[in-house]
Amino acid sequence: MRDIAIIGAGQSGLQLAFGLLAKGYTVSVYSDRTPEEIENGFIMSSQCMFNTPLDYERELDLNFWDESCPNIDGIALSLMAPGTTDKVISWSARLDNPAQSLDQRVKMPRWIREFEKRGGKMIYESADIDTLEKLAKTNDLVVIASGKGEIGKLFKRDAERSQFDKPMRALGLVYVHGMTPRKDYSAVDFNIAPGVGEFFVFPAQTLTGDCHILVFEGIPGGPMDGWPSMHDSKACFDYGMQLLKTHFPDQALLCKNAKLTDDKGVLAGRFPPTIKNPVGELPSGAIVYGIADCVCLNDPITGQGSNNASRAAKFNLDAILKHGGNDFSRDWMRATFEGNLAEVKTCVDWTNSMLLPPPEFRLNLLGAAGEIPELASRIANNFNTPSDFAPWWFEEDEANKLLASYTP
Ligand SMILES: Cc1cc2nc3c(=O)[nH]c(=O)nc-3n(C[C@H](O)[C@H](O)[C@H](O)COP(=O)(O)OP(=O)(O)OC[C@H]3O[C@@H](n4cnc5c(N)ncnc54)[C@H](O)[C@@H]3O)c2cc1C
Repeated sequence: MRDIAIIGAGQSGLQLAFGLLAKGYTVSVYSDRTPEEIENGFIMSSQCMFNTPLDYERELDLNFWDESCPNIDGIALSLMAPGTTDKVISWSARLDNPAQSLDQRVKMPRWIREFEKRGGKMIYESADIDTLEKLAKTNDLVVIASGKGEIGKLFKRDAERSQFDKPMRALGLVYVHGMTPRKDYSAVDFNIAPGVGEFFVFPAQTLTGDCHILVFEGIPGGPMDGWPSMHDSKACFDYGMQLLKTHFPDQALLCKNAKLTDDKGVLAGRFPPTIKNPVGELPSGAIVYGIADCVCLNDPITGQGSNNASRAAKFNLDAILKHGGNDFSRDWMRATFEGNLAEVKTCVDWTNSMLLPPPEFRLNLLGAAGEIPELASRIANNFNTPSDFAPWWFEEDEANKLLASYTP
């Protein structure tokens, strides 16, 4: 059987590893952290995952938290009038199937231990170029699933396909216990303050049980771009609460009794959304193959990164299996990446579109969703199937046609 090495024990690397293992491949996964180090480390994401990507995990019997993790049953959207906290758009719609967000500090350690139990090989080492050279000699394929890790520098940025060359948001995450749940039903509650940034919140499961995850997306240089060092978790929590009071006061009220889940329950940072060439060339001329965030990194504004990582794991699993005993050539890598990218392209474009001021026709669409429940439902459920945003999210004529189709 074939030998595959995977660098990175995150969403895409481990999910792919389980899929290959189940088909009899010999799989080694390199992780720069042990399960205990991940459990005791900082939060990494808000990782809200929608139904289809969750189904890919279920297919591999990796859904250990279906019962314990709180369901997220809808999407709510509010838009403030510029320079005020008055809502000019506000609606919510139910998801056809619930989403869930499980702290990766809970998920990845459990998956790593499960992977070893099922016969996979874990190596706790930060893979560098020398490691990759050795692995390329002894494996049929070396997959780099290192997320934002340094080793990803091996892959060259695709300037034509990368819409931005700098971070578009200053990111902040705070995990809290004690937030008052929104009325009606649980949801990703998404709030937009034009010219300032966005705030969204949803229920999740963390190390200490149920919590809410607060996600702050500040326009760089703007009033939400002043996060303290994440090593001072109290200062981060206080800063987040201050932002809510100033820009999203109804959310601040819900957080009146909120407390940090733990002193590693905060994250602050920024990165440019980037698409790269998926073929990494080593000094010897050997090649390695990049997947998920390592080569297709998106801003978290639409909460799609883990979903795309799951989609990438599924797509690449199917492609590797289909390729059978053939050579994993440069052409195969390029073609497989193109296939995966074609699947997530609308998702990437939609995510990038959310980072820029919206054109009027899109504001009309969002406003109309407040009057037309079917449209609100379609937008909400597209968080699970973002490819359905094309073409009407992007093209004025198509948006108008869609609106007309809802009007008797
Ligand atoms: C603030 C924020 C909020 C987010 N919110 C959401 C959300 O709501 N929904 C959503 O779907 N996504 C969200 N994401 C994105 C999501 O977490 C990522 O897109 C997803 O985890 C990427 O999966 P991956 O497998 O590509 O990489 P990762 O999950 O990052 O895994 C990479 C792994 O590789 C390891 N590694 C790196 N280098 C090496 C090396 N040299 N050797 C060995 N191991 C190495 C890392 O330690 C890590 O464990 C968010 C991200 C951020 C930053």
